[in-house]
Amino acid sequence: MRYRGREVGGEGRVHRVMESTLTARDRVGVQDFVLLENYTSEAAFIENLRRRFGEKLIYTYIGSVLVSVNPYKDLEIYSKAHMERYRGVSFYEISPHIYAVSDNTYRAMRTERRDQCILISGESGAGKTEASKKILQYYATTCPVTDHMSTIRDRLLQSNPVLEAFGNAKTLRNDNSSRFGKYMDVQFDFRGAPIGGHILNYLLEKSRVVHQNHGERNFHIFYQLLEGGEQDQLSKLGLERNAQKYHYLVKGCCPRVSSINDKSDWKTVRKALTVIGFHEEEVEDLLNIIASVLHLGNTQFGEGEDGETQITTEPQLTYLSKLLGVDGPALREALTHKKLTAKGEEMIGPLSFEQAVAARDALAKAVYGRAFTWLVAKINQSLAFKDEVYNSSKGSSSVIGLLDIYGFEVFQHNSFEQFCINYCNEKLQQLFIKLTLKSEQEEYEAEGITWEPVKYFDNKIICDLVEEKHKGFISILDEECLRPGEPSDISFLEKLEDTLGGHAHFVTHKLANGKTRKAVGREEFRLIHYAGEVNYTVNGFLDKNTDLLYRNLKEVICQSDNQILSQCFHREEVTTQKRPETAATQFKNSLAKLIEILMSKEPSYVRCIKPNDAKQSGRFDEALVRHQVKYLGLMENLRVRRAGFAYRRRYEAFLQRYKSLCPGTWPNWQGRLADGVATLVQHLGYKPEEYKLGKTKIFIRFPKTLFTTEDALEA
Ligand code: ATP
Ligand code: MG
Repeated sequence: MRYRGREVGGEGRVHRVMESTLTARDRVGVQDFVLLENYTSEAAFIENLRRRFGEKLIYTYIGSVLVSVNPYKDLEIYSKAHMERYRGVSFYEISPHIYAVSDNTYRAMRTERRDQCILISGESGAGKTEASKKILQYYATTCPVTDHMSTIRDRLLQSNPVLEAFGNAKTLRNDNSSRFGKYMDVQFDFRGAPIGGHILNYLLEKSRVVHQNHGERNFHIFYQLLEGGEQDQLSKLGLERNAQKYHYLVKGCCPRVSSINDKSDWKTVRKALTVIGFHEEEVEDLLNIIASVLHLGNTQFGEGEDGETQITTEPQLTYLSKLLGVDGPALREALTHKKLTAKGEEMIGPLSFEQAVAARDALAKAVYGRAFTWLVAKINQSLAFKDEVYNSSKGSSSVIGLLDIYGFEVFQHNSFEQFCINYCNEKLQQLFIKLTLKSEQEEYEAEGITWEPVKYFDNKIICDLVEEKHKGFISILDEECLRPGEPSDISFLEKLEDTLGGHAHFVTHKLANGKTRKAVGREEFRLIHYAGEVNYTVNGFLDKNTDLLYRNLKEVICQSDNQILSQCFHREEVTTQKRPETAATQFKNSLAKLIEILMSKEPSYVRCIKPNDAKQSGRFDEALVRHQVKYLGLMENLRVRRAGFAYRRRYEAFLQRYKSLCPGTWPNWQGRLADGVATLVQHLGYKPEEYKLGKTKIFIRFPKTLFTTEDALEA
């Protein structure tokens, strides 16, 4: 008896299963959803996921898309031996794995000489970042390297702990939640060795620097420094080894997390900074910035005798001026006053208490946010492909891009950040639609096969609603931010109602008949996304969009002798009259560029699913999974895949696998491959409607046909 598809379960267990026999399939489900008999049934889909999850089989395909369910425990399926098992092996011959996707993508890049990208999506905690790390580790371990290249390989790997320290935080959903979007290009030379990399970062959640919801933390780096930093280092920074002392660290009442060891993480980060090539002075400048954010948080204001707002925490101010490398009195004034220009004349006016607090917080966010951008740029320098070293490979390199970006988010209260994140997901869904349908169509065309296109919901209408010039959401927001007079979040909401009211995907509390819609609050609007309805609170949209930092504060920071800050804050910013781009427009433009990059590459998809909200292993919450299956568009994906031909396989692979079933093709077929396959399927009794022969592949319409053939192998 011959066994097919070896499924490797968790904890190193190997299930030798015959998937096509009913009993085995009953237990572990099918490894590719296209094999589901009842492929339109969501219940059958989820049942298949559940069964596999129960057997610690967290990966399943929809054709070439990998669906992954977070196991929340180490399954011991990522060893070097596992990596080896997936090298050069076809999808169908081995159980689904992130390494299969990594390897197929790599091989496609090598053989077709086409740039590739792997798009990883899913909600917070679903396992996107872990998946992207596994892919990177796979390349680091299995690709050829020389001495020069091992430096780049190490730097690629070490960029992760650094970016995670500065850009990740403990949230209610994930103890290591990425609070920024990341796209990373890994560049390979003609031998297939990694020779460089480049990272693009998207929309860091800066508001976290000054505020965290209950049960959440600030970015990891603050706690790491306090826990792991050497005593004299902390003294120099004016810091105490106690997170409770810092206002910016206690908002969420959650200084410690059982799954996180800040002290050892600090060591990892320090080492990584060195591997990446940070100089000691740069590390020092970086730490000065981290510490200054903490001192800013502890800077308090009160009312002076003259009734004006003043700083009441002198020691903080002293540290701030030292750490930020700026003039103390100038900083004091900039934190409590603002410059106004009236009738061409500049005047200094005092800030109210609330304004001073807001100015302080704005400075903390700006300093941290820009230092993060600087950090990415610095990592990019160190990952940059150095022509002089690798002259031989000039001009013949290819790229694999990895996208690990925030999934669709719906919270109790949704604000500007969720709006941006969900808009980003609309754009990616648009890309998915274009690329899956396009590539499906292209493949049929290339192979000379006719097919009926399948109907799907095209979310272009929602993308347009957000980004259309003049009458789109972002245009209206920008216009309101720039309007003279007293624009407010509420006046913005009214503008939205005037312009977008009546749009099929935009709703407010006002009903057309003059009545009130209860499900949407008076300060809310609802967007009907492709993935579901989301109510957004309009509060804060204007401020977050303009991201205002008073000019005189900028002037002070521009003169900083902290090298990082002086690179982050340019003099021109305060001298130019041009208004800076708003946050939403910046985001829109960077997304447009991202889509352009992705469109130029051949995509693979990893769809991550979170099995429960408790971060627990072994728990599969069906309702939660159903929701994700819906908004990841998996059923639609499956329908598209099944609409044409469920299976396609290159002639040589098909012959190789099944030639033993036909005396005419056994042991070796000598003629044209297509003729060999034709002989084989004729012998097997395939009916004409069951299959088509393309130029290089056989297309099989129904999974059942393939099952029968597989069963024949085992007979
Ligand atoms: P976010 O959008 O919040 O950044 P994410 O999708 O990137 O979320 P991850 O940080 O990758 O989520 O995963 C969350 C946690 O789940 C990990 O810290 C890890 O504990 C666990 N996890 C994820 N994938 C795996 C896996 N393949 N094996 C074991 N544990 C995993
Ligand atoms: Mg993540």
